[in-house]
Amino acid sequence: MMRPGTFRRLARAAGAVDFRFLPPSSQAAFRSQPATAAATATAAAKAAASSSSLSGAGGGVLPLLRFLSTDAASSSSSTAHRNIGISAHIDSGKTTLTERILYYSGRIGSIHDVRGKDGVGAKMDSMDLEREKGITIQSAATFCRWGDAHVNIIDTPGHVDFTIEVERALRVLDGGVLVLCGVSGVQSQSLTVDRQMKRYGVPRVAFVNKLDRQGANPWKVIGDLRDQLRLNAAAVQVPVGLEAGHSGVVDLVRLRSYSFAGEKGEVVEEGDVPPELEAEVAERRLELIEKLADVDDEVAELFLMEEEVPEDVLKASIRRQVLSCSFVPVFMGSAFKNKGVQPLLDGVVDYLPEPIEKANFALDRSNNEEAVAVTGRSDDPLLALAFKLEETPFGQLTYMRVYQGRLKRGEFVHNVNDGKKVKLNRIVRMHSDEMEEVEEAGAGEVVAMFGIDCRSMDTFSGGCMDLAMSTMHVPEPVMSLAIRPKKQDMQKNFAKALTKFSKEDPTLRVRIDPETKETIISGMGELHLEVYIERILREYGVECLSGQPNVNYKETINKRINFDWVHKKQTGGSGQYAKVVGYIEPLAEEEGREEEEDGSTNAFENKCTGTNIPPEYYSSCEKGMDDACTEGALVGAEVEGLRVVLEDGASHAVDSSDMAFRICMAHAIRDAMKRAAPSILEPMMAVEVEIPTDFQGTVVAGLNRRMGLIQSSDMNEDGSGIKIEAEVPLSNMFGYSTELRSQTQGKGEFTMEYLKHLPVQKNVQEELMGKYREEQEQKHAA
Ligand code: GDP
Repeated sequence: MMRPGTFRRLARAAGAVDFRFLPPSSQAAFRSQPATAAATATAAAKAAASSSSLSGAGGGVLPLLRFLSTDAASSSSSTAHRNIGISAHIDSGKTTLTERILYYSGRIGSIHDVRGKDGVGAKMDSMDLEREKGITIQSAATFCRWGDAHVNIIDTPGHVDFTIEVERALRVLDGGVLVLCGVSGVQSQSLTVDRQMKRYGVPRVAFVNKLDRQGANPWKVIGDLRDQLRLNAAAVQVPVGLEAGHSGVVDLVRLRSYSFAGEKGEVVEEGDVPPELEAEVAERRLELIEKLADVDDEVAELFLMEEEVPEDVLKASIRRQVLSCSFVPVFMGSAFKNKGVQPLLDGVVDYLPEPIEKANFALDRSNNEEAVAVTGRSDDPLLALAFKLEETPFGQLTYMRVYQGRLKRGEFVHNVNDGKKVKLNRIVRMHSDEMEEVEEAGAGEVVAMFGIDCRSMDTFSGGCMDLAMSTMHVPEPVMSLAIRPKKQDMQKNFAKALTKFSKEDPTLRVRIDPETKETIISGMGELHLEVYIERILREYGVECLSGQPNVNYKETINKRINFDWVHKKQTGGSGQYAKVVGYIEPLAEEEGREEEEDGSTNAFENKCTGTNIPPEYYSSCEKGMDDACTEGALVGAEVEGLRVVLEDGASHAVDSSDMAFRICMAHAIRDAMKRAAPSILEPMMAVEVEIPTDFQGTVVAGLNRRMGLIQSSDMNEDGSGIKIEAEVPLSNMFGYSTELRSQTQGKGEFTMEYLKHLPVQKNVQEELMGKYREEQEQKHAA
């Protein structure tokens, strides 16, 4: 489901054009990269491009993924590391900001803006599709050096349909930069991102962007952070000028002002606090100290004694409280106008954690998955997590975060999940679609590798530990679509594309409908599926025809029912015989939530005593239950929340077999489910709508018509807009973006996220069952 604003930027033209690279200079106060670094990298790239014959895993040459330089020295253990994610509501400017970061750190030689006139597109949007749509769909990992620090940046997508990408990125990050628009402040997506960051305990700093825009007000945004996100936030800077007059910032810790000169803001000029800002600076510095005093004893003591808080004490206190997720320092500027980016980078290094400072846990597989703290030291045995896979034309590229130990080129590592040993042939650092080869990567680093065949979220070790890095919560797909290639001769490429995408993205599932033989893809929403259909065309040249998107219903039961079933077949030779006795009952809600290892939400309990059913057939009985649960009694949807208790049965010395018990159990459960007051469950979405106040009545009425339950509606502080939160069945959300646009003259936005499956209303259940019956009849008639 697309937010109306998502593709609005297609129509927008960004201002900047193909700048020539100018060396950053006179940045005494900042730890900027020497000007030569980028030039060297560019020269190395050119040299490599002309002579390189590097082969990928598939044996092909790498013309696209340009080889930059071999840089083993930069991973030395004395280097500071920061693994950061940049998260934001879509359109807040995170791509623009990332581009500036790469530029000022000397990592890239020129700035290309998102949807820029030069048509090149920002560095981080590496896929053509992203370039065209101007949105960052897939997270790309890149890195840069800032002074002594090695900063890995994972660009995280903002759209809610791609939540899995955000979560994956957060799992491997030690810190985050929350980018907010200086005009719009906290928007719906910021809330989702904030929730996720809290879930993974990610320390962060905030950056209030777009201070050059009309109506920009960083203080209102900080108010939003406090009121809406309940964050203990305070500015560590005040802006010098706002809107068209925005020229720099004053640092409240150092009490120095910074302005940004040169064609692209690469010349950072440090000066005294401008006299006209002295009063404001004093007031805001006090506010900063007050907020810190709420959580930090050292600052609290000085504050209560009304003593001056020295710069180093203030800085140490901010760092301490950021690391414990008790404080969020707020930086500000305008990425697009090249203001405030270098001080933000300093803030990242000063306040966000070194990998070893963030607690990480692994699960001990030989001890009931007990959590074990990871040491974070490079000298300890290896523990690394493959957190993202990307199929490239040259083979699978596997992104890994090293939690402890070292990955060394040429050595073997052990895949804890499948037990296989693999050799590390090439280790590279990713820079959007270019790469840099390294000899080794130590604890805390994020690197990518070719030639490693594994699945997303597999753990790698040196072979001596049975630890796995905790897996993440992978949401169930909520929407499905039948899809086929337009031309039959494209079938092979079509299958290849789907295999690749589903391996890369666990929220994309592919299956064949057993009856219609159609290929069904399921995912997290309309936009999610649309993007893959588009990628199948672009990356594999296969045009697809797709059916109507369908909501993924589920079924459950609501009553305990006994079963007593005999399966008997005699067709000459040896027959089939099995008998099962027991009952089925609904699982309590909290039990049902707990997924089994295989992803099922049903439970099988064996209470048989004696050998009426020989124990070797127990597992066949369980398989029979799984077979029955793939298709419910009402609309053929998957069944969840069921407990099957097997109590007794009977067997025959000759005619009983695995198959006989499996079939018997499946029949028994299918029959019992029909009598166990079955019901249909539908996905409910948490919908957040932001609109100007005038449209509240119409929009609320619209949500009510869609059977939405309004949870809250809060007015902005200045009364200009309102945010409505509602729970709405996904099946009623089709076409909502169009409706909202027309209801609000294009001024409303919404996002939604899967919440849970809930029972449908009685009349809806009847309707769905009628439709299903009709479809079945048509199928059988055909
Ligand atoms: P993302 O969706 O968060 O990655 O946002 P983008 O970086 O793609 O930026 C969205 C739009 O806002 C683009 O048109 C940018 O040029 C523009 N933009 C980004 N930063 C600023 C800024 O500081 N000031 C202004 N005026 N526009 C900005």
